[in-house]
Amino acid sequence: MSSVTSTVTSRARPTVRAPTRGRWREKIVVRGGKRRKGFAELLGGGDGDGGDEKGAEGGRASVARTVDERCPCGGGVDGLTYASCCKRFHDGDAYPDDPVTLMRTRFSAYAKGKGLYVVKTTHPENPILKEGSKTEEGKVVSSLARDVETTCQKVRFYDLDIVRDVKGKSKGGAREHLVGFRYKCRVVRQQGFNELPEEQHAELSTFRTVKDAELGEVWKFVDGIQGST
Ligand SMILES: [Zn+2]
Repeated sequence: MSSVTSTVTSRARPTVRAPTRGRWREKIVVRGGKRRKGFAELLGGGDGDGGDEKGAEGGRASVARTVDERCPCGGGVDGLTYASCCKRFHDGDAYPDDPVTLMRTRFSAYAKGKGLYVVKTTHPENPILKEGSKTEEGKVVSSLARDVETTCQKVRFYDLDIVRDVKGKSKGGAREHLVGFRYKCRVVRQQGFNELPEEQHAELSTFRTVKDAELGEVWKFVDGIQGST
């Protein structure tokens, strides 16, 4: 997800959330990307997402009773709630171990307006971070974070679907990974409109490892190619 979307993260099964209010006006055709393992399988079925409604570690994961209760990323095969799925990452209680989880949690972060999480998981080489960093360090961070928060208020994100998950090239000790995904979104609260037609997007995101002083080697989002997976 670039600009509006230069980030995002994760996946839900495509059948999980059928568009409920959907007129489909614009359909963006995505190419490539044979369907492989879903994110939940890649994650081991959502196990380890731990936490009950309060997000406590070790508690029983809370399964959403309705589609709307699911975590924005889809909540894995079990359809977990946000509290049992991405919340602990957004709260800083955990950091994703792999690029797919990172993408999934970044997607939820856009949906939930968790700007600081998006900043924290963005690679220093990311063009948006770099551009902004010409001004002043602190300002960059807050402007990207604010961007996410503003986006969250204007755009509703859903139906995340991961269609590619492949190793990329290594660069000078850093590992790279590519994650292709699709999602839908809808602009809401646009002036003069109640809600714009549903849009479908696809993106191929690049993730790269960096050394973090506290966490050791972690994955971060570098950038994404729109319209391809
Ligand atoms: Zn989630």
